[in-house]
Amino acid sequence: MLSGLVEPAHPGAVREVLEDVHELVRSLVGQGRVADYIPALAEVEPRRFGLAVATLDGEVTGVGDYRVPFSVQSLAKVFALAAVLGADGDQIWGRVGREPSTHPFNSLVQLEIDRGVPRNPFLNAGALVTTDRLLTLTGDAAGALRGFLRAESGNPALDSDPRVADSELAHGHRNASLAHLIASYGNLENPVPEVLDHYVRGCALSASCADLALAGLFLARGGVGADGTPVLSREATKRLNATMLVCGMYDGAGEFAYRVGLPAKSGVGGGIIAVVPNRCVLCVWSPALDVCGNSVAGVAALEHLTARTGWSVF
Ligand code: GLU
Repeated sequence: MLSGLVEPAHPGAVREVLEDVHELVRSLVGQGRVADYIPALAEVEPRRFGLAVATLDGEVTGVGDYRVPFSVQSLAKVFALAAVLGADGDQIWGRVGREPSTHPFNSLVQLEIDRGVPRNPFLNAGALVTTDRLLTLTGDAAGALRGFLRAESGNPALDSDPRVADSELAHGHRNASLAHLIASYGNLENPVPEVLDHYVRGCALSASCADLALAGLFLARGGVGADGTPVLSREATKRLNATMLVCGMYDGAGEFAYRVGLPAKSGVGGGIIAVVPNRCVLCVWSPALDVCGNSVAGVAALEHLTARTGWSVF
């Protein structure tokens, strides 16, 4: 068992830590509840577990199901925001805040309190605004998001799962309500049905831990993307990571910061992306969730991992 600071550039040492972590969380895998408010997600096997580390040079080390695609759900919100910030600069911050929410990720109450300006871009309401802006900027928000993830992960086969998208659209009354409420405050540029369609297809992208750790590397590289050119400026990357730290883990962000100490984003598919600035990006997947919507085994794995390696921003 390793302890102390582990250099991500040494894949042998990293693999040993990942295997130890996998062992440590084995009894937690499957504990919690798989998201079932989107019926297609309820069919996922709860005992899946994958964990990958992508280092700055684009090397991936992983354990378990780290190459199995899963539904990215809210992990898409990070990439959609990055795409908007990259294309449009800071303008989006006039339409969405960056404070944590004390209400759940799909709360209508929070949006009403905030008078149609979503509290942060990682709430569903905030991501609807980001999607709306991406739609205006590109004419195809879901396509732009898929292109972004394909380019940064290097996986040209990465795609949206139409079954998951259709399942969410058919049961998406709450997101439709959020979009209409935002529109009622004059904070949408495009028609509600179009925004919802693009939002849902973005959430329904399927990608593996390996894909997502690679796709997030620009967040650990001061904004530099897979082809060596900037996805974002260093300053914008700092701000995106900071927003993830305080808002990325639903109403469990404080507990996650305490236990793990990294900027991160969670999705109800059971994935979590966490950024170790200037070192590496981690992605863990295990579908059974805690009451906040965060993967039980995933959070525990990241806690063990940061404790073993010293990979934390603190
Ligand atoms: N598509 C999901 C929804 O809108 C995403 C939620 C999440 O992963 O936080 O409810």
